[in-house]
Amino acid sequence: GVAPPVAVVTGANRGIGYEVVRQLAERGHRVVLGARDLDQGRTAAARIDPSGERVIAVQLDVADEASVLAMADRVTRELGGADVLVNNAAILYDTWAQARSADLGEVQRALDTNLFGAWRVTQALLPLLRRSPHPRVVMVSSEGGSLASMTGGTPAYSVSKAALNALTRLLAGELRRDGVLVNAICPGWVATDMGGPGGRPVSEGAAGITWAATLPDNGPTGGFFRDGKPVPW
Ligand code: NDP
Repeated sequence: GVAPPVAVVTGANRGIGYEVVRQLAERGHRVVLGARDLDQGRTAAARIDPSGERVIAVQLDVADEASVLAMADRVTRELGGADVLVNNAAILYDTWAQARSADLGEVQRALDTNLFGAWRVTQALLPLLRRSPHPRVVMVSSEGGSLASMTGGTPAYSVSKAALNALTRLLAGELRRDGVLVNAICPGWVATDMGGPGGRPVSEGAAGITWAATLPDNGPTGGFFRDGKPVPW
């Protein structure tokens, strides 16, 4: 039969990324579970798929060029391609900080993971994605990166997500002719280590990401969505 689509999810040993892996595996994808700590990645992968055939843990630190290139190489050799990329890994929801006094070293760290990490992984997998019949790239963003509602707070995080949204638009435009659908998704406020208690269940936040990862060929590109509905940039 036809080989199942291959999806790569970054920062997937816990939180929303983990649940996206679970949902994509459930839909029949083979999923590369990216984790910067391989042991944690293996434990997470085995929890979803004890057989180890559908979910494959791979060491992946998106802030580390060598790690990203090694992952892309492994996906090429062992899975033969990639159809879906979910850029989920992110850090530093800096609720305590303000732009006027922000520690720029922290801001730089946020950008290195949240912006350059996604950019790096996308560049590394692009040759594989372009060969896919139904390529999809999902940028896991946040309404915290929406210029329309940016009034203060979380400066490192918000700037990193606003820039990620800009990258989403650029890539969507450049890759439109290749059929690569590139969208930014806000999962809403989700109860994870980052979100803290009180947010909605992880399954609900992840569902909007899984939606963007499995869009039909006539689906949107260059959009910003939450729960499958457009949100303001
Ligand atoms: P968590 O903090 O719960 O999980 C973050 C994941 O990213 C972990 O697996 C972490 O790995 C990984 N990660 C961090 N840095 C790197 C790196 N350099 N390389 C690879 N992996 C890395 O976050 P959430 O699950 O809540 O968030 C997932 C996404 O959803 C993020 O993009 C976040 O900004 C976004 N989001 C979340 C919201 C929420 O309410 N939770 C709201 C809006 C957006 P490790 O375990 O090794 O630290």
